[in-house]
Amino acid sequence: MPELPDLAYVESVLRPALVGRRITAARTGDPTVLRIMVTEPFPDLLVGRSITAVSRRGHFMRFALDGDLVLVVNAMLVGRYKLIPPATSNSDARPKKDPRALGLALVLDDGVQMHYVDEKRMGKVYVARAADEARIPVYGQLGIDVVSPAFTREAFGRLIARRRDQTRMFLMDKRALASIGNAYADEILFAARIHPKTFCNKLAPAEVDALYAAIPAVLNQAIGEIARRREPVDVKVRDFLSVRGRDGKPCPRCGTTIRAVRVGDGDACFCPTCQPTGRKLFVDFRALPKV
Ligand SMILES: [Zn+2]
Repeated sequence: MPELPDLAYVESVLRPALVGRRITAARTGDPTVLRIMVTEPFPDLLVGRSITAVSRRGHFMRFALDGDLVLVVNAMLVGRYKLIPPATSNSDARPKKDPRALGLALVLDDGVQMHYVDEKRMGKVYVARAADEARIPVYGQLGIDVVSPAFTREAFGRLIARRRDQTRMFLMDKRALASIGNAYADEILFAARIHPKTFCNKLAPAEVDALYAAIPAVLNQAIGEIARRREPVDVKVRDFLSVRGRDGKPCPRCGTTIRAVRVGDGDACFCPTCQPTGRKLFVDFRALPKV
């Protein structure tokens, strides 16, 4: 958390609340979360600036500020965003000292506050000149955005043709594909009926087709579902997933018990019947995800 579908929703909620607003104050509970790539000190470098754009890039959120500054957040595993209306933020109930989990709070000129909260403090908040944003780690090397028009079958084919690693590792390589995390890697492999440990160079052409089709199909379906729920932006909506977090429960397609297996440094959830090991002789095209 958060992954691409979560951030697409965060973007849709934060953009109308933040764009055009001026920052009147900024604070942090833990300065080590901040990566200031300019010479001005925090918080003075943010105060008085207006937010001109809010956008998602891969698994990062980007806030453009006037004066050619950008604020880029990599929320890693547990970082989340909160919008706090003026009534709450101005009330006396607010604790005097911010928790260390408060990575960044921006106070806007209408009294609304945007908080980035990160209990594990693994995420990072970068502040950089727009001209220097390519120097932000990982962000500057992001691969193709998998829900953009640039994600074509040809581009995907060129990327996967070079790979000798396991399919799940490839899916999660942010420098190739921007950006697929643990949850949606599992969901995409389930939709494409591919075992998470299958090596990319062992995939049949029809399996590469199925994998390509599954990526935007699964992500766009999740984007639609999360938008439909209209929960506050810090609420994680994952209860509609087919295999992720469901090990020990029955597969929604065939009833086989879903299993978890170690792949690289993460755990993958998969259905041993729908996603068998070894190359399949053919792909059942009736089973491809509906776009
Ligand atoms: Zn199954």
